[in-house]
Amino acid sequence: MLRLAPDGAGIETAARCFGEGKLVAFPTETVYGLGADATNAKAVARLYEAKGRPAFNPLIAHVADLASARRAGEFTPLATMLAAKFWPGPLTLVVPATALVCELARAGLPTVALRVPAHAVAQKLLALFGKPVAAPSANRSGHVSPTHAEHVIADLADEIDAVLDGGPTPLGLESTIIDCTGESPLLLRLGGVPREDIERALDMKIIDAPNWDARAPQSPGRLASHYATRARIRLNASDARPGEAVLNFGAQKLAGIAQARAVLDLSPNANLVEAAANFFSHLRALDASGAAVIAVAPIPREGLGEAINDRLARGAAPR
Ligand code: AMP
Ligand code: MG
Repeated sequence: MLRLAPDGAGIETAARCFGEGKLVAFPTETVYGLGADATNAKAVARLYEAKGRPAFNPLIAHVADLASARRAGEFTPLATMLAAKFWPGPLTLVVPATALVCELARAGLPTVALRVPAHAVAQKLLALFGKPVAAPSANRSGHVSPTHAEHVIADLADEIDAVLDGGPTPLGLESTIIDCTGESPLLLRLGGVPREDIERALDMKIIDAPNWDARAPQSPGRLASHYATRARIRLNASDARPGEAVLNFGAQKLAGIAQARAVLDLSPNANLVEAAANFFSHLRALDASGAAVIAVAPIPREGLGEAINDRLARGAAPR
């Protein structure tokens, strides 16, 4: 792991790392983020692996300015006004996604969470890299959020490629998250920007998201339906039945697979990082094949296999 100084050379190295699909922790005004190129599903898969989270949750994509944000999401007048008022700063806006941020970073959602951080080092890094950077807090799952480079190193030194050391982060609090995809703004999470400031800027009350826990996207409600495929999911399949599509892993020789309606392999070499990177796009493609059922070959429950199985189990649950 490289420890980079927050100067021109360090920032250039960090941006080059992102371009190579590597993981770099960097300071923002909230906490240190663990960054990866948000448009590169393989890099994002490595990010989930490094964090050791047992589920895919949508990540905040960080950009340098509103113009860059517009390439990743659709900005309504409401979202534009919030961005103009609070960016750069600790406010995250959820808006309808374009295809730029990969589906894995969005955990399969048609929406994307975007933020322009107000930290000089983050600003320079994002402007230089020029693409959105997915960056959850740079700690292992379940550990506290890092406000010093030392915290990042203690938690993730073996997992990441570099840390850009910009000293302690000023705020130490996460960003406020507002969902701007509907008629009126919904508060998904309280954080660095107080509710009253947003209400004053908009001259209206913001509603707490009903039945939508931003911290637990697996909870039932609006988010859950976005996770579902049209086809039914049949888990741990040892065969492919007539008319079914098959989501394979590690080139398993399922009975009847030659007659399947469509077959995609998450990773013929049984690599779970590759499997995670392909997961949402393969699932979507098989759903589009028109098959009523997607039979899924067994996927090991280790490393990223846990998050893949978690996501599949939720997709397979009765609706
Ligand atoms: P953090 O751990 O600070 O990076 O926070 C990420 C938060 O943003 C999580 O609570 C996510 O559930 C939330 N989030 C990210 N993308 C979306 C989205 N498209 N819709 C709703 N919540 C989102
Ligand atoms: Mg965190």
